[in-house]
Amino acid sequence: MTVDRDGAAAAAAGMAAAGTDAAGMAAAPAAGPRLLTGSPIAAEIRTGLTADFAAFKTRWGYAPTLAIVLVGADAPSAVYLQQILRTCQKVGVEGRLVEIGTHATADDVCNEIETLNADPAVAGIIVQMPLPAHIPLRTIVDAIDPAKDIDGIHPLNAGLLALGYEGFLPATAHAAVEILKRSGIPLEGRRAVVVGRSNVVGKPAALLLLREHATVTICHSRTVDLARQVRDAEIVIVAAGRPGLITGEMLRPGAVVVDVGINVREGRIVGDVDAASAAPVVSAIAPVPGGVGPLTNAILLTHLMRAARNQAEGRVALGSRSMVPTLPMESMP
Ligand code: NAD
Repeated sequence: MTVDRDGAAAAAAGMAAAGTDAAGMAAAPAAGPRLLTGSPIAAEIRTGLTADFAAFKTRWGYAPTLAIVLVGADAPSAVYLQQILRTCQKVGVEGRLVEIGTHATADDVCNEIETLNADPAVAGIIVQMPLPAHIPLRTIVDAIDPAKDIDGIHPLNAGLLALGYEGFLPATAHAAVEILKRSGIPLEGRRAVVVGRSNVVGKPAALLLLREHATVTICHSRTVDLARQVRDAEIVIVAAGRPGLITGEMLRPGAVVVDVGINVREGRIVGDVDAASAAPVVSAIAPVPGGVGPLTNAILLTHLMRAARNQAEGRVALGSRSMVPTLPMESMP
């Protein structure tokens, strides 16, 4: 999987920045659909984070550390890692790259993670995916203290999300829904389709839309007649890793689309939505590149801020695998 979460800001072909009606569901204006771009939102979040991390440092005397565990090395990871380290630097977070050789065992990786779990300066831990084939994902995920699991991959955080409690969310799924919310797209009561059911993107994105009171359908590789499902939707989030999977003919006129896919085609980064055929149909789209990607790291660092505060204020007992306090969300009748 290629992960370029801070992708370039270039707009998708054939689309122009343009408004939608108040409901965000107008048919695409002649100039093209509204582009939901992540960079301005990310910049706003980073400004807030810079102030928050500065205040944290003044209050507690240290800048929290984000530890990034990299097992083996591959080129896409290297690009992503540079981006996240740069974002850390921008907002006053210590980025610590923990490189572990390709031939390390699962125990070696778990030992490194245990060291990070026990390090009070480390507020958050992310593990770069994919792991080498000989290392079982579940073993590594389980080793992360849930209180430092700022990308929401630990089963405890996944369970909290499923139950509607406040744990740590997977950053990409969070960014996909946040771009809609911050762009003023109404979600309550809307028919939403999420294409993709992975634990890191599709499933949590669907749960977050449910939390926003959308009526949610999840589609996946075994869905029969994907086009029929998608055509029904006013909101479509696509995270399948299949370039051009969603075409304009499949979309309802005026739909709002968030493309999460990152694929390399003929040397270019493209999403899962066929931008050219979608543009005349949809009212708004978070494109690839430039949509969700640039937002994801900023969102991730908001999670780090919360983790750092929870830990510094003693609201979690590290090492005990306790967890962040499970503050109930609003009840959902
Ligand atoms: P994944 O491979 O784990 O899951 C893909 C999902 O798509 C599966 O649930 C599968 O059932 C579904 N799918 C595959 N083919 C399908 C088809 N023909 N019809 C319907 N559903 C289909 O991938 P992932 O980790 O969830 O990532 C999804 C995409 O999002 C990838 O392109 C990935 O690179 C991208 N991604 C982006 C970011 C970001 O920050 N923008 C972060 C992570 C992943």
